[in-house]
Amino acid sequence: MTTISAQLMRIHERIAAACVAAGRAPGAVRLLAVSKTFGADAVREAFDAGQTAFGENYVQEGIEKIAALADLRARIQWHMIGPLQSNKTRVVAEQFDWVHSVDRLKIAERLSAQRPAGLAPLQLCLQVNISGEASKSGVPPADVADVARAVAALPHVVLRGLMAIPEPADTLDAQRAPHRALCELFVALNARGLALDTLSIGMSADLEAAVREGATMVRIGSAIFGARALRPVPSTPPAAA
Ligand SMILES: *Cc1c(COP(=O)(O)O)cnc(C)c1O
Repeated sequence: MTTISAQLMRIHERIAAACVAAGRAPGAVRLLAVSKTFGADAVREAFDAGQTAFGENYVQEGIEKIAALADLRARIQWHMIGPLQSNKTRVVAEQFDWVHSVDRLKIAERLSAQRPAGLAPLQLCLQVNISGEASKSGVPPADVADVARAVAALPHVVLRGLMAIPEPADTLDAQRAPHRALCELFVALNARGLALDTLSIGMSADLEAAVREGATMVRIGSAIFGARALRPVPSTPPAAA
């Protein structure tokens, strides 16, 4: 058994145990394997161990991996989970199945307009700035209802739910608070007529807290693929000031 398949098994055990602790059905939480910074070989290894949904943070890296794994394209779901600038939406609309990091209406409008006609609608989550950190992207909680309604009305995308990256915290209780706040927002949106089914929360360090608070999709990277090296320096130097 490879390391990746052993780690995947361990994550499935953690998810199952967290579901039991929360009184939730064991199948209620899907695993998204975050493969950013790891190569196509690592993705293939995880695929061979049964994993079919993968998350990428960087557009260029993601499309290179999708191309390298073209033989598996029909059997893998590719999820964009990193910050998305409006000049990068076209390739994402053309190549990915999901985008979790929609942080403003304009991005969703572009993804909808640029989604090729022959493909299934792109599946979207709104990223919510649940911890209120000035430096983090995401829709402010107070604006989520309006943005969600507008995104849900777009033709070539489906609004599936909410995503957040809460501020790291050390204890289970401290980790649970922002996840609970996101879940409350999610419940409120559904009560107001939206039909959301995805709460994208939980990473390697806070999976248990997220599952306790209702996560339906956890995004796990390092606990499957190992520690990440720092991101390589871009090959084009920044323009002189
Ligand atoms: C990197 C990343 C993850 C996975 O983080 P780990 O701590 O390695 O599990 C999840 N979500 C997003 C948005 C990420 O950028």
